[in-house]
Amino acid sequence: ADGLDPRTRALTERRRVLGSAYRLFYRHPVELVRGRGAHAWDAEGNEYLDLYNNVPSVGHAHPRVVEAVARQMSELNTHTRYLHPAVLDYADDLLSTMPDEIDRVMFVCTGSEANDLALRVGREFTGGSAWIATSEAYHGNTALVSAHSPSLRNGEEMDPTLRIVDPPDTYRLGSETADGAGSWWLTRVAEAIAEIESSGDGFAGLILDSSFSSDGIFLGEPGMIRAALDLVHAHGGVVIADEVQPGFGRTGEAFWGFDRHGFVPDLVTTGKPMGNGFPIAAMAARREVLDAFATRRPYFNTFGGNPVAVSAAQAVLDVLRDEGLQARALSVGAQLRDALRDLGHAHPAIGDVRGSGQYTGLEIVADRETKEPGTGIALDLLEELRDRRVLTSVCGPNNSVLKLRPPLAFEAGDIPRLVEALDGSLTALGV
Ligand code: PMP
Repeated sequence: ADGLDPRTRALTERRRVLGSAYRLFYRHPVELVRGRGAHAWDAEGNEYLDLYNNVPSVGHAHPRVVEAVARQMSELNTHTRYLHPAVLDYADDLLSTMPDEIDRVMFVCTGSEANDLALRVGREFTGGSAWIATSEAYHGNTALVSAHSPSLRNGEEMDPTLRIVDPPDTYRLGSETADGAGSWWLTRVAEAIAEIESSGDGFAGLILDSSFSSDGIFLGEPGMIRAALDLVHAHGGVVIADEVQPGFGRTGEAFWGFDRHGFVPDLVTTGKPMGNGFPIAAMAARREVLDAFATRRPYFNTFGGNPVAVSAAQAVLDVLRDEGLQARALSVGAQLRDALRDLGHAHPAIGDVRGSGQYTGLEIVADRETKEPGTGIALDLLEELRDRRVLTSVCGPNNSVLKLRPPLAFEAGDIPRLVEALDGSLTALGV
């Protein structure tokens, strides 16, 4: 009777009930109702190849995760002030994937909560409050974390002591070795530390996603950022490794992003892939760093690490190991990038293909010579890919980098479908 098509009506209705703060993907948003592995289906039964979701990390609706959650839910779920053996078993198992120095873990529900806690712990330990973060970093949505997430700086007030450094753009700096982008970045971090020290703001440390995912995906060569992280330690700062993106085997080369760079951080935060979509996140810590906080401040999190959440997380770890998903990420990701580089011969808009394991950045340029970001092309490309039933998104300061970050269930057999969709889309755009 209102003359609107169902999708337009759903969007209007959504805004009426949920308000206008949320953002959906796509000019014509997708309604997903079912998933399996790296594939998902919409309400009309159309099948999509999912190149975007690191949340269902071991695959959409993985039967072992489903079974573990259903079993625990049918036995008991409650708040986190009772003993439960699964919590300690999982804590030990998770810590066994990290260096020996990191020997404590606290459970929360979201990456934002983990980073909020880490910033507080880091402040308590160092006595400082001034952090360094990268220019497009997103670390979460609490007041404290938003103020340390420079990607929000046009809408949120940044902490006045926060220092922002540009990421090591391996494409524009020309080299992925420790002597190229790595030493450039070391200088940026050194400058930020010097500025904090001369300002008299106490230096707290650096909060970092070592995959630089919202900065445009700069995994670089293993070890690339090691010297800069060592410098933070040398100046008495702590390093928070935000592993929400690179963690849980995604980069193929190591289970954790910091490990790829041969560095042991002070605090490690995780979230998204940890429970395959069931809300569970964590902050792991060096004992001596956590103690300053933990001995003085009680902490309670109603849902964080409850028995059901932990059963999901345990199933994820088990599946990662049993299905060899880290090794698969390494080999399938390399094959994917080879195929994309080949495609670059036919499409000048493909400026750079970079990444590690199942984390690939495909940078779209308006001009290969000048490397001018191809923002408009990239945004149109997303829509073209969506029409060809391939889901992905963009990142980087200019939204010109396609973020290819599928569930680790993505298989080599899925690559031709992606290449065909990209080829068709770029051809349709005439680039
Ligand atoms: N850190 C990083 C690097 C993230 O990408 C995100 C989410 N996009 C967060 C933290 C926040 O996690 P959550 O949405 O679970 O609070």
